[in-house]
Amino acid sequence: VSASGSWWCELAWLGGERAEAGVLVRAEAGLITSVEAGHASAPDGASALRGLVLPGFANAHSHAFHRALRGHTHRGGGSFWSWRETMYEVAGSLDPESYFDLARATFAEMALAGITAVGEFHYLHHGAGGTPYSDPNAMGEAVIAAASEAGIRITLLDACYRHGGVGEPATGVQQRFCDPSAEAWAERVEAISERPGLTIGTAIHSIRAVDPDAAALVCAWAAGRGCPLHAHVSEQRAENEACREAYGASPVEVLAEAGALGERFTAVHATHLTEADVSLLGSSRSCCCLCPTTERDLADGIGPASRLLAAGSPLSLGSDSQAVIDMLEEARAVELDERLASGLRGTHDAPSLLRAATSAGHACIGDPRAGAIKTGARADLVSVRIDGVAGAGSTADSALDSAVFAASSADVETVVRDGETIVSEGRHRKIDVAAELTRSIGTIFQ
Ligand SMILES: [Zn+2]
Repeated sequence: VSASGSWWCELAWLGGERAEAGVLVRAEAGLITSVEAGHASAPDGASALRGLVLPGFANAHSHAFHRALRGHTHRGGGSFWSWRETMYEVAGSLDPESYFDLARATFAEMALAGITAVGEFHYLHHGAGGTPYSDPNAMGEAVIAAASEAGIRITLLDACYRHGGVGEPATGVQQRFCDPSAEAWAERVEAISERPGLTIGTAIHSIRAVDPDAAALVCAWAAGRGCPLHAHVSEQRAENEACREAYGASPVEVLAEAGALGERFTAVHATHLTEADVSLLGSSRSCCCLCPTTERDLADGIGPASRLLAAGSPLSLGSDSQAVIDMLEEARAVELDERLASGLRGTHDAPSLLRAATSAGHACIGDPRAGAIKTGARADLVSVRIDGVAGAGSTADSALDSAVFAASSADVETVVRDGETIVSEGRHRKIDVAAELTRSIGTIFQ
């Protein structure tokens, strides 16, 4: 549904260094038709949005079902690899119906956080043992329907997955992620890509799970469609070592050889990179999607955000494992983590972090029309309270820094997607989000 209307924003970020006051935004059929600053009050007929209005956020890397893990994986220490065992248990328990319920509640939580579009990196394709459902895309259909009910757009990044590790067969729950061959992956994705209105994207799960020949086939399919291509890249040192041992090259180099890099490509995490990797990603204008709240939760490490930007890679952001769903937290973490690692403040300013959370994120999931409050862009608007306890004391001049460095999802008040209000007064218009999360997760951990 795409709607028309007009909104008066007390303050709005139009892409500059500071917020503008009294901004009137008009939209028709879901697209912004005019943006005017300097209106002291809301004209008749315009909806008033209090606080600071930002473009809708893009969650460029998500696995919806990981939401069930929140709070269930923190005890007892461990590593990425032990966390993965619990994640496999959840993956093993889902079917299209329970996946729909969980994803619907999770995407509704995203709506509450101001996210208007998600790049769902989807790899849980088949039934137990890898047996396809009668519709081989039943799980993909479940997440698409879930996003639609939650009121957010989805780019289905359908992931190819072939191996349990470099040179190893997939075992146990991993079999549910695997198509019988890369050709069979392409055939399945071809079928779902014909669905009207779907933004299809592709993914190479990782160099752990996809061999170079299969990766090349995915790259060719994505190139033929001109659609986004994402891959988990160098999240863990062990994955780099296994890759070097098998192929004599880093994961970025293997992906470059397969034909992955370029403006349609997004390297997810990009944590443990060599200088050569950074320059390959940057010179090809490949996007890098950082997921700082997941990377810190899994003890992955801190990616080279400013070196990647300087080399030419746009940055986007994702909630990935749903440890939290808060794009403002993801955004500031890029800067704050770098401060801890470097001993320097102020490498990434608020506008730069917001671009990662908005325009760069939408672009990397295949929607360059979203993520800015300007004529011709999608009418996605998020109002963030600045008069609550987190933002109180901020002024028009400091509102942008206050929102990016101190506000959270809890301060999001109104969310408009394609001109349609999906969240008002901090509540989802259709879904009781906490109750739905409780119910859907309760069926998994019973
Ligand atoms: Zn991921």
